Amino acid sequence: MKFNKKLENIKIYEAGKPIELVVREFGIEAKDIVKLASNENPYGCSPKVQKAVIDIVSNMALYPDDSMIKLKSALQKRFDVEGENLIIGSGSDQVIEFIMHAKADCNSKILINSVTFAMYEIYAKHVGAEVIRTDSQEHNLEEFYELYKSEKPDIIFLCTPNNPTGDAIDANEMMAFLEKIDENTLVVVDGAYMEYAAFKEESKKITPRVLVEKFSNVIYLGTFSKAYGLGGMRTGYGISTAPIIKELYKLRPPFNITTLSLEAASIALEDEEFVQNSIASCFSEMKRYEAFATKQKIDIIESYTNFVTLCLNDNKDSAQLANDLLRYGMIVRDLSGYGLNAIRVTVGTPKQNSRFFELTEKLL
Ligand SMILES: *Cc1c(COP(=O)(O)O)cnc(C)c1O
Repeated sequence: MKFNKKLENIKIYEAGKPIELVVREFGIEAKDIVKLASNENPYGCSPKVQKAVIDIVSNMALYPDDSMIKLKSALQKRFDVEGENLIIGSGSDQVIEFIMHAKADCNSKILINSVTFAMYEIYAKHVGAEVIRTDSQEHNLEEFYELYKSEKPDIIFLCTPNNPTGDAIDANEMMAFLEKIDENTLVVVDGAYMEYAAFKEESKKITPRVLVEKFSNVIYLGTFSKAYGLGGMRTGYGISTAPIIKELYKLRPPFNITTLSLEAASIALEDEEFVQNSIASCFSEMKRYEAFATKQKIDIIESYTNFVTLCLNDNKDSAQLANDLLRYGMIVRDLSGYGLNAIRVTVGTPKQNSRFFELTEKLL
């Protein structure tokens, strides 16, 4: 059968290997599997969320509140923006999809970092847009600006902190960059890990309200999947000017967020203490990864996120290491698909991290 030609060259996105598959393939019990592959919060979510969700489980016959009033109000309060500045997606992934369809087509160019979140390219291909990449591994805004001038992209994606490398753009540098971009070019600032960066280093903190106030062509993305510990709830959001949000709304399917997800995300925003505590634990555990890397003489990229990227020496293949770890029930992310001989490891609980060190030391 013939399919949409635009899909021909799309490599299917491989998410971190699910625990359920490791159980089947290796016969390891779920309780003995450690998944450090998708940057989820190892401490889960606020206990208040669990209670709230259980309370509404008996009421699932009706469609969700499509105005999303409770979650929108909570986000408005958190970010000091208006409802017209917000769109909520089934993960911020879905907002990226809306953005692509709203702004790009087969004559468009999309500018992204050389190594970055794989979904930008996949959604670009859905609409047949051409993807332009920088050369530098870390976001180099001068290089972005040169390519902006020569290629005239329709959308620029800035992922800060960046996945899968963990580095972050300086907020002042980003502001200076945005000043130079014409208002017809849409700039997407993906802050999936911003809670971590803001905790670690004030100068990396991007405030969506400031972006909306200053620029008519910028959209900020956030998610509940990482710091808020709600990966299973598939909820993310975009914050931008009213005209951009209005355009994205044309693409939103009705009821795109479930009743449970709306409740979970709303309540999660009320328990900031839980989130800040898990971020603090993450960075204190990250020191152990840095020490481990030093001891094993492997490079580690300084991370502003809840994961670390370990760049292996030439005598060890990252795909091999990830596979070997899998046999012991340890799931990490091999980055060879990104052109790096590296693995990305989500910082887990102290016990999970100890297990990672013990196994990796043995396998290296
Ligand atoms: C995880 C992630 C997202 C989106 O996650 P959702 O679960 O779809 O909200 C977006 N961008 C980056 C860089 C991510 O790592």
